[in-house]
Amino acid sequence: MLSLPGTASSSVVAKQECLRSCPVNAVRFGFTSLKPQQRVAVGVRCEAGSQKVGFLGRLGRVIKEKAKSDIQLLFSGFSKTRENLAVVDELLTYWNLDESENILDELEEALLVSDFGPKTAMKIVDNLRKDILAGRLKSGPQIKESLKKNIVKLLTEKVSSTELQLGTSRPAVLMIVGVNGGGKTTTIGKLANRFNKEGVKVLMAAGDTFRAAAGEQLEVWAQRTGSEIVMPEAAKARPAAVLSQAVRRGVDEGFDIVLCDTSGRLHTNYNLMEELRGCKRAIGKALPNAPNEVLLVLDGTTGLNMLPQAREFNQVVGVTGFILTKLDGTARGGCVVSVVDELSIPVKFVGIGEGLNDLQPFDAESFVNALFP
Ligand code: GDP
Repeated sequence: MLSLPGTASSSVVAKQECLRSCPVNAVRFGFTSLKPQQRVAVGVRCEAGSQKVGFLGRLGRVIKEKAKSDIQLLFSGFSKTRENLAVVDELLTYWNLDESENILDELEEALLVSDFGPKTAMKIVDNLRKDILAGRLKSGPQIKESLKKNIVKLLTEKVSSTELQLGTSRPAVLMIVGVNGGGKTTTIGKLANRFNKEGVKVLMAAGDTFRAAAGEQLEVWAQRTGSEIVMPEAAKARPAAVLSQAVRRGVDEGFDIVLCDTSGRLHTNYNLMEELRGCKRAIGKALPNAPNEVLLVLDGTTGLNMLPQAREFNQVVGVTGFILTKLDGTARGGCVVSVVDELSIPVKFVGIGEGLNDLQPFDAESFVNALFP
């Protein structure tokens, strides 16, 4: 109905419908002050807008479901991580009841070497021991299956959804935080690529005003992914000002997603962490309830060192999800499990390379299957 040609009656109907179905847009786009020929365009936008808003609410699920078919990509990305855990297979192949205590010790050792962390490794092995002693696990393959189930449980039990939570109104704002060199900028490029594939209109905010080249680097990702970008207006611009300007533009111009980059900072630097708190506040002032997600990028190769980082960032800005990068390199997959187990915050994506497509939505079962094929 809203896409009818711009007759007087159709534009009146369009106006009424627009006000009814999405009054915010009708007001936002100044419906009443527009010329008749513009009203239909607004009406069309309004209809498309309300459809998109529903779509935005489901986008996290859509992206995750599509990724399940990319399991092969995950497998090849994790080849090195898997090598570290191959010893588990060997141990369980030769498992027998009389040797079970020794084998469990070695299994715990193997998990520790793979960065599962002492608490998490002990928890997993204790559970297996209990089931072996109770006679519920009687063979190597059964123990392996139970090991996998235990890990999936640790990754899913205490956390909310691993899907992106984008809310139901546009734009959804994602704030990306982390230390220097972890992969924030690259991850924003990869995220924009994923969103663009779903027909989503993305605006980037070059909030890393500390490092001169950071904005330019993000600009290249914007070009590669067909995204728009808000750059700092002056050298040494306040990051909070850049982010708030971007969010306002996102609202005014009907963007679906605003991806906010922030400067890399050490979690131990009080002033910089306070600045980050200010960035989040500025985003919330520009758009109530934003940001929808605060995603902490963690470099998988740092192993258990990521734990204090994660704790501190979470305390300062309330992290809603992790993105673990560089799992294609020398990273050991266990760190994914220990960080979720320790902080009860979900991993939402994993980075498995430097290319545009090397970002996988995190799915606990696929991940565990990739670690223990
Ligand atoms: P930032 O300082 O946090 O913005 O980090 P960058 O995005 O500039 O990334 C730092 C380096 O890590 C760059 O060389 C990236 O190409 C690389 N990088 C980022 N993500 C991944 C990943 O998942 N795998 C690999 N192998 N390299 C990555």
